[in-house]
Amino acid sequence: MSIVVQKFGGTSVGSADRIKRVAGYALKEKEKGHDVVVVVSAMDKTTDALVKLAGELSDVPRKREMDMLLSTGEQVTISLLTMALQHKGAEAVSLTGRQAGIRTDAVFGNAKITSIETGRIEGELSAGRIVVVAGFQGVTEDGELTTLGRGGSDTTAAALASALKADRCDIYTDVDGVYTSDPRVVPRAAKIDGLSYNDMLCFATMGANVLHPRAIKHAKEHLVPLIVRSSLKEGRGSVISAKAQKNGSIVGVALQKGISVLTIHGCDGGESLILYDLDSHHIETERIKHREDLALIIKDEDVHAVKKIVSGYSGAYSHFEIAEDLSKVCVIGSIQSSGEVKEKVTNVFHDYHIGKVSVWESSVGLSALVDRGDVEKAARILHMHFGLDYIESKRAIL
Ligand code: ASP
Ligand code: MG
Repeated sequence: MSIVVQKFGGTSVGSADRIKRVAGYALKEKEKGHDVVVVVSAMDKTTDALVKLAGELSDVPRKREMDMLLSTGEQVTISLLTMALQHKGAEAVSLTGRQAGIRTDAVFGNAKITSIETGRIEGELSAGRIVVVAGFQGVTEDGELTTLGRGGSDTTAAALASALKADRCDIYTDVDGVYTSDPRVVPRAAKIDGLSYNDMLCFATMGANVLHPRAIKHAKEHLVPLIVRSSLKEGRGSVISAKAQKNGSIVGVALQKGISVLTIHGCDGGESLILYDLDSHHIETERIKHREDLALIIKDEDVHAVKKIVSGYSGAYSHFEIAEDLSKVCVIGSIQSSGEVKEKVTNVFHDYHIGKVSVWESSVGLSALVDRGDVEKAARILHMHFGLDYIESKRAIL
């Protein structure tokens, strides 16, 4: 039997009417003969409201209690959606992360899924039920509730799709697909019909916000296609699959604001413990090693935590410094490391007076750190210079 996993974000389940509509989407797949698993987020801005509420009671609420609190949001949605489905005459059942067999490590607030025991879900599916699972949550070996990091419902959906060997995983959201750049910044950005897991991973890590980065890794594991589509209007969306772009093609320009660089000087091999520690706290950093200096590219919100970790290993280096108020722009695609793209970016920045801090190539493209005030202009210019601007006539000819 073919299995389809559908995921609906907060906006898509933001009211009773929208939940009814989501029930309709699930039923439609069921009527086509698929087994259906639906993963939902908390309604609308519920999670933000809960975070705010916690802040009114404590300056630094413990992460265990935060997870206890935040996991309630998704639980509201699963029960309501299941009621809506039952009201329409469907057989359906709601499951928390724990009931769905989602095991995680014990990093509260940012846990990783370690395994999924699919027996319960499979049993419900073979009994003909639509299974509605709470996104963003799991349980540790010791029975503690955990959450997967903000935006983590995508990861629940992709990990379930992978574990169940689903035919596809539809990510319903409030945009109609993945764009070549952020359309609010680059008006000529175009929707991409199909892209590879690797390219999508780069968009997501660069803060594109359409998909949680870990979701892509899970989907890639069993090559489950992910389809990003709108829950508010019909359309084919963007298909993310193993199909790669042709070599050397550039697929987009991503940008990320609020970036800091922490440079550790004089670390002759002593950095490995620091990196290990950062990984075990699940802090994502991009790292550039240059002789005895190690630059960690981090989000502003992680500066405090990274500083604390690095300071704990003061014997392993001579000193460190932090540059704040930067932004990052990334040219995404399979660029052959010929230096050609790097040269083009450097020249474009020079011609348009963009204050660049550094440019480097990585496996997913080319990144540049620029002053915060220049990043939007940089994105628009690179988008144009790499031939990505959407021009009506270009589409018409194709
Ligand atoms: N409700 C969680 C959040 O707002 C998880 C999610 O929406 O994916 O981050
Ligand atoms: Mg999201």
